[in-house]
Amino acid sequence: MLPGSGPDTGSDGAVFAGTIDEIVAALDQDPVLVEEVMGNGQTEALQAALLEKAEASQLPVYVVLTKAPAGLTTQNTAEELLTLLHARSGKDGVWLVSTADVGHVAMQVYGDLDPAVDDEFTLLRNASTNAQGEAFKAIRSECGDCQIHPALEIGVTLDVLAHGIPQEWGTQPLTDAQVDSYTSSLWTAPDTQTAHYERAEMPTAGLYAVVATVTALTVAVVAYRLVQAIGGKRHPRLRGSAKPAPPTLAERNTAVVDARREAAAAYRALEKALGRAGNRVAWERRDIATACLERAESRIGADDLLEVVGGLVLARTGSYALAHATGQYRCCYVDPRHGAATKEAPLGGGVQVPVCAACAAALAGKRPLAPLLSAGRFGSLAPYYERSSVWSRTGFGSLGGDWWQEVPR
Ligand SMILES: [Zn+2]
Repeated sequence: MLPGSGPDTGSDGAVFAGTIDEIVAALDQDPVLVEEVMGNGQTEALQAALLEKAEASQLPVYVVLTKAPAGLTTQNTAEELLTLLHARSGKDGVWLVSTADVGHVAMQVYGDLDPAVDDEFTLLRNASTNAQGEAFKAIRSECGDCQIHPALEIGVTLDVLAHGIPQEWGTQPLTDAQVDSYTSSLWTAPDTQTAHYERAEMPTAGLYAVVATVTALTVAVVAYRLVQAIGGKRHPRLRGSAKPAPPTLAERNTAVVDARREAAAAYRALEKALGRAGNRVAWERRDIATACLERAESRIGADDLLEVVGGLVLARTGSYALAHATGQYRCCYVDPRHGAATKEAPLGGGVQVPVCAACAAALAGKRPLAPLLSAGRFGSLAPYYERSSVWSRTGFGSLGGDWWQEVPR
């Protein structure tokens, strides 16, 4: 029977929770749900091990390892399922979800779980990634071909949570014994495709890697569409070339942290420059700088990458206005983090946009660009200029005009 079409039973006779409602009902009984398809051949043992870790967690946790229910609309089924489950249950806590077809773990932290910490998600993700790295090293020292099963990622995150949300960046609270415990077959998967065919109900890490690669290669043609700001023209598709694999959640988190650091530095520089500016800078230029400073302030601590990058570009725009008598700061249209644009290049359809030297070279060589990505409602990623936002309308100022006035305070 297909998931979502009614109750299904596994080999142990347990009812398979195939719909969002059924999964939420299962979580009401038990905060950990491991279905056979993601049980690594030892479903009951895995369920018990994760449950024990969940019970030791200082914060509420919800864990789901399953086959994606029918009817999800994106390829990021783990992220989408997590969002839907949280929306349906309304429960705050740390949510960890993996589905058989993605092979990674989606994580979200809902609610202000630790008032002493501003960015629970980033700190938890960082400690978990560090612990996973240690576990992976231990696994590889015993088995050169073995890969980690997604359950390991969840296991180490729960182990981290036994100590609460880490208070500092760069920590890894697991003991050596805890790290070594992950070398057991419960948490590892052999890196062979044959295992998949022999045990069709149990996808392996090797299969996950193959699926991820095929998905990345299939999404080969990127549509570079310019914002309506340029005469409402739509751009023809850029010639097809393999799109780089999308960044993982951990990489996206790191990107937010990096951008925040840069934005904070740019903000402080603008603040200082404004303090020093005095009357030797024309009032119009000081007005621009003040407007940018006001709008940058609230964005630097944001969780959304586009907002943080917006804060960075606003701060640079303000500083430029103070340092130059005319003109304005133009960033690379493709990704403002590339810095100032150095030339104009045709993005498609003959329309010129300001880009950095590296993007200009990539366009000239018809190589794929690496644009700033924006996450949709269910975690799907697309170039920011393909979505609708103040950032896509203004190109982060690269398209000119008094763009900062369009940015809400
Ligand atoms: Zn660039």
